Amino acid sequence: METLEFQSEARQLLQLMIHSIYSNKDTFLRELVSNASDALDKLRLESFRDKDMQVDVDDLHIVIESDPSARTLTVRDNGIGMTREDVVRLIGTIAKSGTAEFLKQLKEQQSSSSDLIGQFGIGFYSSFMVADKVTLVTRHPHAEKGVRWESTGESTYTIDDVDDAPQGTSVTLHLKPSDDEDRLPDYTEPAKIREIVKRYSDFITWPVRLGGEDINSRKALWARPSSEVTEEEYAEFYRHISHDWNAPLETIRMQAEGTFEYQALLFLPAQAPMDLFMRDGKRGVQLYVKRVFIMDDCAELMPEYLRFVKGVVDAADLSLNVSREILQQDRQIQLMRRRLVKKVLSSIKSLMGARPDDYLKLWGEVGAALKEGLLADADNRDAILEICSFASTHSDSLTTLTEYVSRMKEGQEHIYFMTGDSRVAVEQSPHLEALRAKGYEVLILTDPIDEMWVDSVPSFSEKPFQSVAKGQVDLETEEEKTAAAAKAAEFSDLLSWMGSALEDNVKEVRLSTRLTTSPACVVGDAHDITPTLEKMYKAMGQELPKIKRILELNPSHPLVEGLHKAFGAGERESLADTAELIYGLALLAEGGELADPSRFVKLVADRVQRTF
Ligand code: ADP
Repeated sequence: METLEFQSEARQLLQLMIHSIYSNKDTFLRELVSNASDALDKLRLESFRDKDMQVDVDDLHIVIESDPSARTLTVRDNGIGMTREDVVRLIGTIAKSGTAEFLKQLKEQQSSSSDLIGQFGIGFYSSFMVADKVTLVTRHPHAEKGVRWESTGESTYTIDDVDDAPQGTSVTLHLKPSDDEDRLPDYTEPAKIREIVKRYSDFITWPVRLGGEDINSRKALWARPSSEVTEEEYAEFYRHISHDWNAPLETIRMQAEGTFEYQALLFLPAQAPMDLFMRDGKRGVQLYVKRVFIMDDCAELMPEYLRFVKGVVDAADLSLNVSREILQQDRQIQLMRRRLVKKVLSSIKSLMGARPDDYLKLWGEVGAALKEGLLADADNRDAILEICSFASTHSDSLTTLTEYVSRMKEGQEHIYFMTGDSRVAVEQSPHLEALRAKGYEVLILTDPIDEMWVDSVPSFSEKPFQSVAKGQVDLETEEEKTAAAAKAAEFSDLLSWMGSALEDNVKEVRLSTRLTTSPACVVGDAHDITPTLEKMYKAMGQELPKIKRILELNPSHPLVEGLHKAFGAGERESLADTAELIYGLALLAEGGELADPSRFVKLVADRVQRTF
């Protein structure tokens, strides 16, 4: 017998379980039955693929046994089992991505910890909510000997060989004394077990037996008429497949008849999955063929930007042996995926109209992922734009593009937007001044993904998107245009002198039509990348050539007027410093960073000194 230590993250999670922060302890049984059901799925799949495997798959099932006098409860399956290495790796450690992050969050916000647990799904370890010792005996079909694993959930576990273990896994809980105050019911009572299985695991496709009797109906929810399935049943099924402990925000059902028949049961989450923005995060839905589980995370059926959608697709006409390679090439699968995507997008649109608060909740959780579709899925671009919401200068609440367009001023041709790090930075940036003064609404885009899609999405409802920090701002009237041309002539010498004085930093100096109260701002050419995007590339370690932007001056600002006068009087030397100061101010005003802050500070200090 060997005694091994739990990995430190596993130990922390176990402590949480032992001290049981989650009030609904019944759910441990759901987790064990769910693991057993997965193990049976895996064995059946293995037996399709490996014809030489000497196992009987005719009577795959789950048995629950209780012994009131010994106070034990056992969940046994004749599924895939585990090898000794599997046990150490799967039960002794937590390999789930995001564990460290999850534990950190738990520490930070003790109070709402049960919400967080919900997002994580703690599986097997939840046994320690109700047991003070757990014994697991398991044997993989290829292994001669079985393995016994035992632990009290403290820092170590023991592991031992077993000669006569049946193939499959049994988990025996040595239950804590039942205690009404601690809300710990007597889990050895058949009525209690039956109630929990019925509530949480009725849809499990394998028989769950208690005292020789099947206690679950085993009906696949997606095969039952929707009118007969309760919301609670959907919620439990969603929890089973998603490992989310919350109820879903929306349930979507689909049915296709004809040459290629399939049924789908999809869910939108109330809370973003923990791994939504992690590199190795899970994606895709479960694929079944005629009620038989084929694979998890079937990415071929759901594009990456919809990775928050969980659910099941059951296709009637695929082979049980279907592999990922085949799926990737299958034309029917591609058609199916196209229809699933359209259905998900249209369901979100309906949600928007019917339950706006729920839509906003969903958007807050997964909107940033959904927006990836604007780049990745050109075919559905318009449908995605329709369900997007953005912050805007119109009000503190989010707006849809349809609402924006309905508020557009007479003669306004563009949908104006500005990207940036935060709402405050964007609102205070000088670029917005003239547009605001004239009453134009500007979308405030602050998600990193916004920097990307705005470059490749030309328009919405035939109105082109226009960055207020790029290119020239349109002038409205002929008078404005004539006046601007006259000003430009008047300032032309100053502008070209200043252009060469600042040539290391900017590619041009020109007069601005977008400023009212600030002296200057920096703008990009229509196709230049934005400073935020530049920062993102640099953070990813990408080398970029230095990007020079355009400095725009406000000719009616006293500072610029003074500069013009001094320039006319022949002053040059001190004006070079002034030019640099103005450029620095423009950068700071948009929340940007100075290349050489100490030099800027010195210039300012010198200038202030001269005022005394
Ligand atoms: P999860 O089920 O979320 O992956 P668990 O902690 O419940 O997390 O289980 C960890 C792993 O241990 C499972 O993914 C599975 O590989 C293995 N496992 C658990 N229970 C069983 C079982 N009854 N039969 C075979 N393998 C199991």
